[in-house]
Amino acid sequence: MRFLIRSALRQGTLCGREEDCPDRVFRCRQCGYSQPGELDACPACGAGWKAIDVSHGPACPKHLVEEAFETPNGILVRRCFRLLNAKSIGLAITLADITEEELRVMESIEAEKQEQAAGEDRDAKSFQELLLRKLSRR
Ligand SMILES: [Zn+2]
Ligand SMILES: [Zn+2]
Repeated sequence: MRFLIRSALRQGTLCGREEDCPDRVFRCRQCGYSQPGELDACPACGAGWKAIDVSHGPACPKHLVEEAFETPNGILVRRCFRLLNAKSIGLAITLADITEEELRVMESIEAEKQEQAAGEDRDAKSFQELLLRKLSRR
């Protein structure tokens, strides 16, 4: 569950464009042929490059996270993120609207967010110290 929450919070930093994916897959739209290497044309059916799609492969971090979100736990975490969003735009959510389980996940999300924010502060601070040390040496 924590893994799912962390992944969701970091989703933006995971694999970005399909073209930059470490495990990208090229697939022919016409016949379904696929391979990890770049395809200019389909070797199976001869379709041109316009029929070739590039997508995130099975070992891509983004793909793995997306897969994890299709599990029951993942769906629960997604729902809780939506509930928190609703709360942040001013919708009133009472304890009667959510289950015990959802409440617990929402609490974990908040805790994880705070931990992450604290971690960023620490990083920024140590970077500043490093900079100061470097400057004072000159
Ligand atoms: Zn990817
Ligand atoms: Zn093909």
